[in-house]
Amino acid sequence: MEQSIENKLIKADKVFSEWRKVPFEQKQKLIAKAAEILKNNSAKFGKIITTEMNKPISQSIAEIEKCALMMNYYADAENVLQPEKIESQYNYSEVRYVPKGVILGVMPWNFPFWQVLRFATPAILAGNTVVLKHASICFGSGNAIEEILLEAGFPEGVFQNLEVGHKEVKEILEHDAIKGVSLTGSGKAGGEVASIAGLNIKKSLLELGGSDAFIVLDDADFDEAAKVGAKARLQNCGQTCVAAKRFILDSKIENEFLPKLVEEYKKYIPANPMNRDTKISGMARPDLADELENQFKKALENGAEIIIPLERISENEFNPGLIKVKEGNPILQEELFGPLGMVMIAESDEEALEMANNIPFGLSNSVWTKNNDRQLFFIENLESGTVNINRMTSSDPRFPFGGTKASGYGTELSLLALKEFVTAKTIVGN
Ligand code: NAP
Repeated sequence: MEQSIENKLIKADKVFSEWRKVPFEQKQKLIAKAAEILKNNSAKFGKIITTEMNKPISQSIAEIEKCALMMNYYADAENVLQPEKIESQYNYSEVRYVPKGVILGVMPWNFPFWQVLRFATPAILAGNTVVLKHASICFGSGNAIEEILLEAGFPEGVFQNLEVGHKEVKEILEHDAIKGVSLTGSGKAGGEVASIAGLNIKKSLLELGGSDAFIVLDDADFDEAAKVGAKARLQNCGQTCVAAKRFILDSKIENEFLPKLVEEYKKYIPANPMNRDTKISGMARPDLADELENQFKKALENGAEIIIPLERISENEFNPGLIKVKEGNPILQEELFGPLGMVMIAESDEEALEMANNIPFGLSNSVWTKNNDRQLFFIENLESGTVNINRMTSSDPRFPFGGTKASGYGTELSLLALKEFVTAKTIVGN
């Protein structure tokens, strides 16, 4: 490891011994200040995102505003880390929540500010310090976040951006200073990083991929479901972990609903990401576009039918595609991380549920029906960290976020996230 990187780890560890003693409320004031900086400069920081990974500028600005919202949530949050007294036969017995130390964040490019701050804000508020290994195309975002936190008044070393490639993660994670890791990214990266953490007995949290279902039943509001469905698949050029990757439709509605979805889909025409009215632009990197094109071919070779062709119009741009896929097609076991949606037809609610669950992932699902009993059936039986009814999935700081199965483990957002990187220390005495 380069000496300059090791120096940052040592610094983070040293600063931790002071930072952990700073009162919760004082940390919250700094978080509120950082939120204000983000909110007042959303266009400036949004431009960094768009420049680095091509997201339409309106969506980049919305990402910055959402970061400010999330930070304000934690700035006002109840202190759930106060010592808790427990009734017992002893003179005193309580639980204290002790921060672990320096936590490594390994983060992806698809939401370059949101993913980082979503993990770092509760970790830091709990008393940890953070070092970031950002995606290699997002070092500008990582540096900007470090500057924002310094400007807000956080002591130097509480949050540091490390400009390193993924090959260096192993050595960093093995370093004595690092006490845990949070990774948002692919299953491959997650598995490798978690195994290093495991071998070194360090806590890991994984937010990985998904292939969420968007289930539309015969009593849904079709116009709304079609409009929201197209957005849920195509915003951020389809590069969202909780995108609606599989539309599972009640067979009775195929003829009525599908044309509406196609009509909404066709409103997404690739354009310059810097224009405020652009709804979709190019993918983040040409190799990601190659991968999506190969997956499209694989789906067709295994019997998928084209509803709208996926057309590559430049190195990293597509006219979005939609394909009809049947159970058994191996593409269903993969995540399509780009502007290509899948449609499946179910003969019953039971079959729709089976299709939704029959994948390796379990991140989130969205169900469209006005009937309470049918809502409850899906709420109780879908295997995912989140279920949304008559709305698309989008995370909210107030609610826990995390997956099951190959989508990972651990919780981000909400008050629960404050307890991810702490040790519950039991004190009992007479
Ligand atoms: P990725 O290739 O796994 O990269 C994510 C981060 O991991 C990057 O910083 C990357 O560094 C690093 N990395 C890659 N391989 C690694 C390895 N072998 N060891 C250590 N670190 C490694 O994923 P991505 O393409 O950036 O992001 C897309 C994926 O993230 C999708 O699967 C998506 O569903 C998932 N995601 C999940 C959530 C969620 O909350 N569940 C949210 C957003 C995205 P380099 O850039 O240097 O390779």
